[in-house]
Amino acid sequence: MKAIIVEQQENANGLKLTDLPAPVPAPGELLVKVHAAAINRTDIVTREGKSGYATNPILGVEIAGVVEKVEGESQYSPGDRVMGLVNGGGYAEYAVMPADRAIKVPSTYTFEQAVAVPEVFLTAYQTLYWIGRLQPGESVLIHAGASGVGTAAIQLAKKLSNAQVIVTAGSQEKLDFCRDLGADVLINYKQQSFEEEVLQATGGQGVDLILDFVGADYWDKNLASIKKEGRWVLIGILGGIQVEQVNLFALMSKCVQLTGTLLTPRSDEYKARLTADFMRDVFPHMEKGEIQPIVDTVFPLAQAMEAQQHMEANRNIGKIILKVVE
Ligand code: NAP
Repeated sequence: MKAIIVEQQENANGLKLTDLPAPVPAPGELLVKVHAAAINRTDIVTREGKSGYATNPILGVEIAGVVEKVEGESQYSPGDRVMGLVNGGGYAEYAVMPADRAIKVPSTYTFEQAVAVPEVFLTAYQTLYWIGRLQPGESVLIHAGASGVGTAAIQLAKKLSNAQVIVTAGSQEKLDFCRDLGADVLINYKQQSFEEEVLQATGGQGVDLILDFVGADYWDKNLASIKKEGRWVLIGILGGIQVEQVNLFALMSKCVQLTGTLLTPRSDEYKARLTADFMRDVFPHMEKGEIQPIVDTVFPLAQAMEAQQHMEANRNIGKIILKVVE
């Protein structure tokens, strides 16, 4: 089968299309003929050799395609259209997926739309609800609002909780898109002090929950933006990993709960439970068209390099897709 491997780690030029044997499903797994895969920041970290948890030489943590073979008991059969998380191996013509994390593709979705769902919607669902415990009517600050995870989180927070959604993004085009998805307060972090805008939008109280993709650069501003007893979920480090001059008293006196999380290295069992809750709470809204996958660009598999460069340049709104079957 055709697959993308990493020949050199430094940059996306080091990605190479090659021929490899198709994977063999173990008991409890599906062999899936991949129609589309998607690009994620975790793929870039893995390509650079910095993740420390990748075991598959083929990049890619999510796929959509058609079940080719079922090994053991499963609710799925050959011919079914499925989408979901894989343990690497997504940028390829075939991949194996634990059967208990396969999600039926809604009948109206193309494979390119389907593959825009698993990683970002499961992450948004996990961080808003499992970890962030967002309650109806609360306020949430979503950084990188036009990112893959951001566009998913805006929709979930509005549809499932009717939350007050405050987003930051780096351009008016991105903010307009966030508004169309339902965001209530739009902040251009390149032109405005987001912490001042957040306090103004929340009557000086701050937000109940922050989804933080940025990390170090936003430490003080996030602390200023969060409500007393607020929840702060750290899910990205786009703005660096080292915080200088941390004032622990500020964190303590605001009684903030700060949680860090990464989805990719979580256990198979965790991902299966998360998928099951997602199927119960979110999937029905997708089938009704009330929550939409957001596709930015579709590249052919052979252009994985260009696809990763597009993400690294911060050009996308929503997901960047690799089309595997033309
Ligand atoms: P994405 O679609 O590539 O979007 C990321 C956006 O973040 C960029 O387009 C850019 O938009 C903004 N950005 C980049 N650098 C920034 C900086 N230094 N300060 C402020 N904004 C910056 O990303 P994604 O795939 O949705 O992922 C979003 C983040 O979530 C990434 O950090 C990713 O690693 C993380 N993530 C974490 C998990 C987890 O389990 N923890 C799972 C999935 C994703 P602007 O033009 O608005 O600046």
